[in-house]
Amino acid sequence: MSKSDEDWMRRAVELAVERKGRDPANTPIAALVVQAGTLVGEGVNRTAERCDATAHAEIEAFRAAGRATGAMRIEGATLYSTLQPCGMCTMAAIWAGVSRIVYGAGREHVHAMYFEDRHLSTLDFVADAYKDDLSLAGGVLASECAKLYFGPDDEVPEDMQAND
Ligand SMILES: [Zn+2]
Repeated sequence: MSKSDEDWMRRAVELAVERKGRDPANTPIAALVVQAGTLVGEGVNRTAERCDATAHAEIEAFRAAGRATGAMRIEGATLYSTLQPCGMCTMAAIWAGVSRIVYGAGREHVHAMYFEDRHLSTLDFVADAYKDDLSLAGGVLASECAKLYFGPDDEVPEDMQAND
């Protein structure tokens, strides 16, 4: 039986918790790349550990998928992320040939610190890209995913915030 979006998202949540724990301060974001029903890459956010601003969970998952498949593009794949992907990761998904992006918590569920722009949304990146075969679905296990992050009204210490 093929796995549902919820099944994959549950696996992503488990990966986030397993590798990074449940403390929002550790930014437990996880992503999976699934191609033709098979997991070909996974990753968690490693920006702090690697001193690498590009080491988002999704980028880590694309890199793992590239190593696993031996190809730069993962045509037709689905990207699962526990948090709505940022602009960088959404563009990376477009370059990688991803067909679907499925995410858990959206902008409305978490603190603004997770996003690079107050108004620009991932949805706009997809709408404006030279691509008409990329679909986006949010809110899969949204509340489970949102519990991993600071909420919209949480007081977050300033030195932990990338924005503001
Ligand atoms: Zn990102």
